[in-house]
Amino acid sequence: MHVFDALFEQFLRDAELRSLRRETRAFDHAAPGRSREGGRELLNFCSNDYLGLSLHPEIIARACDYVRRHGAGATASRLVCGTSMPCMQIEEKLARAKGTEAALLFSSGWQANAAVLPALLHIMGKDAQVYVDRLAHASLHQGCNAAGVRQIRFHHNDLNHLESLLRARAGQPGHRIIVTETVFSMDGDRCDVPRLGALAERFGAFLYLDEAHATGVLGPGGMGLAGLAPGQVHLSMGTFSKAMGSFGAYVAGSRALCDSLINACSGFIYTTALPPAVLGAIDAALDLIPCMQAERAALEENADYLRNAVRALGLDTGDSSTQIVPALVGDERRALELSRRLEARGMLATAIRPPTVPRGTSRLRIALSAAHTRDDIDALLGALADELEVWHA
Ligand SMILES: *Cc1c(COP(=O)(O)O)cnc(C)c1O
Repeated sequence: MHVFDALFEQFLRDAELRSLRRETRAFDHAAPGRSREGGRELLNFCSNDYLGLSLHPEIIARACDYVRRHGAGATASRLVCGTSMPCMQIEEKLARAKGTEAALLFSSGWQANAAVLPALLHIMGKDAQVYVDRLAHASLHQGCNAAGVRQIRFHHNDLNHLESLLRARAGQPGHRIIVTETVFSMDGDRCDVPRLGALAERFGAFLYLDEAHATGVLGPGGMGLAGLAPGQVHLSMGTFSKAMGSFGAYVAGSRALCDSLINACSGFIYTTALPPAVLGAIDAALDLIPCMQAERAALEENADYLRNAVRALGLDTGDSSTQIVPALVGDERRALELSRRLEARGMLATAIRPPTVPRGTSRLRIALSAAHTRDDIDALLGALADELEVWHA
């Protein structure tokens, strides 16, 4: 054993003792809403494949077609010779769908947030103030940390608090940036985009919205909630890895913003462009999404049904109003135990623990797919009811 392995082993034991150890496991993606582990099929309530697009024949076909026509790799970064015609066309298609002047592709949502915020803050100058929802995604915090700014955190979705923080610093120099998510990944609640847009405008702040869980699912044409405050959102980013079914991410905004990122964003400049297979999948998803109103309606119905039933079982679902339904348990050990028991009954619903969520708010994060049937959801609810009964007995 290498001398450093003792250090790593100790680190892992500490995590284990606190019920916070994480492990990767292999699952086969069987069908939308279903997974296989070994020979066993499980109902999957933890994937972000909300519309089942990861297995959509048109997306698969176009990914294959792009590989055959353009090869396996992009061969270089965007600024060298990695920008292909499909790449440019997707960015134009995306900007039209988002209702913005321009859009830029990124390798992943995590990378976009981690790299775009430092670039923006570099352009805005040292005295810029960054207001961040305290439950914002790790990648947004990463971006702020990489920029070396001290975040001004507001209470989750509390725009009165945000306003009071903005007002308290109104006399200070520097640009303001407000950073939040339109749909929160672990809570399934939404921010009030129109009110946020008006607030940003009033304080002259740059509004940065993460649409990871809204893209494909909510808002005009299913392309996110930023469209609810036209002209007031300066940047919206999202990922193609969730409802869009494949991989990669985007930033949408003005031409000047996108051109500036091409010049200032390290995570855009110094990385290889997305490979053709991924571009094909993204292109097909952008064609499919506007026509998936029926799937979006089914997803919403599934979520309403599940939320009411989970609440009837006595579990808090917070302010969820989307396809993400947290069943709050509190203690991390209990959340883990409940998740394991459900899995033994053939249901996958991941326990989410700190630091992903605040201490004492560990939960099962139930993520629905439009492909889940009422029977699937009832099976989950039945298993959950049984386990809670054992618990309370
Ligand atoms: C998943 C997620 C990301 C990261 O996107 P990837 O493309 O998976 O890297 C960023 N922000 C939020 C809110 C997310 O949930």
